[in-house]
Parts: sequence; structure tokens; C-alpha cells
Amino acid sequence: MRGAVRENLQPVQTGPFASEIQGEVPLSDQRFSALTAKSTDDEIGAPRRAFTATVGHSIGNWALGTVLDDEFRVKGVQGLSVRDASMFPGPIAAMPSCTVYAGGRSTLTWDTGYQPAAANDLI
Ligand SMILES: Cc1cc2nc3c(=O)[nH]c(=O)nc-3n(C[C@H](O)[C@H](O)[C@H](O)COP(=O)(O)OP(=O)(O)OC[C@H]3O[C@@H](n4cnc5c(N)ncnc54)[C@H](O)[C@@H]3O)c2cc1C
Repeated sequence: MRGAVRENLQPVQTGPFASEIQGEVPLSDQRFSALTAKSTDDEIGAPRRAFTATVGHSIGNWALGTVLDDEFRVKGVQGLSVRDASMFPGPIAAMPSCTVYAGGRSTLTWDTGYQPAAANDLI
């Protein structure tokens, strides 16, 4: 974990970022100094021990390919489709909320035939 933190800090301490970014500062806590790729193991570990929490993204209750067919329709139910995070068949690499928004947008374009004039027409 400490290796990953150092690796993530490396790019911001080179090139155009180096003169702009001091380091990673734990939110609203003056006890900890800004972390850099040169921080010690303890300097990296202490803020994480103080702030670590578990967050879960609930997904997949109505997963595509199981309850839903490949066009988001609930199998065996006429006129019912699902576009929220329950449609995810498994963990996704993209932001869950953006993927939910894209699913919502597809409700318009697929189900009603609506064609937005521009890419950001629905935003
Ligand atoms: C702590 C946390 C941090 C997150 N951070 C990010 C992030 O940084 N980026 C990101 O992309 N995603 C993030 N997510 C995930 C993202 O918020 C969810 O994946 C997304 O909101 C799911 O959308 P949804 O429409 O499926 O469900 P929700 O957004 O949960 O919407 C469900 C809605 O249904 C309502 N509801 C429930 N029961 C009823 C009922 N009986 N009658 C009427 N209404 C009801 C609820 O009040 C709610 O408004 C985070 C989630 C959590 C919990």
C-alpha cells in the first residue's frame, strides 16, 4: 500500500505539476504533513490509520444477463426495464454514477427513439 501511495505521488512531483503541488494533504487535519514520494513509511501510514473507512457500492441486484436481458428489460415482464446501479453485472472500472447516468440516457434513446441534437443535450 505504501508503495502504491509513493507511485501515485511520483507523477505530481515531476514535470509541470512539481512547481504547483506540494503533496497529498489529509483532509482537514493539521496533525499530518503533506506526503511526497520521499515520505517515510510511518508518515504515509499514520494518516491512513486515522482515516481509513470501508465504503461499498451496492450493485447487481438486477444484473444484466441474469434478471435483465441485454437491453435492460426484466425477463418475463412486459414493459419493465431497469437502468440503475442494480443492472451492473459486476464491479466496473468506470465511475458508477456516470454509468447510471448513461443508462438513464439510453432509456430515452432506446425506448422512445429520442435523438439528442448534441452530445451534451441531456446534461
Ligand atoms: C459513500 C459513497 C460514495 C460514493 N462515491 C462515488 C463516487 O465518487 N463516484 C461515483 O461515480 N459513484 C460513487 N458512489 C456510487 C453511486 O453513488 C451509486 O452507484 C449511484 O448513486 C447508484 O445510483 P442508483 O440510481 O442505482 O441508486 P441511488 O442513487 O441510491 O438512488 C436510489 C433512490 O431511490 C430512493 N428510494 C429508495 N427506496 C425507495 C422507495 N421505497 N420509494 C421511493 N424511493 C426510494 C432513494 O432515496 C434514492 O434516492 C458512491 C456511493 C457511496 C455510498
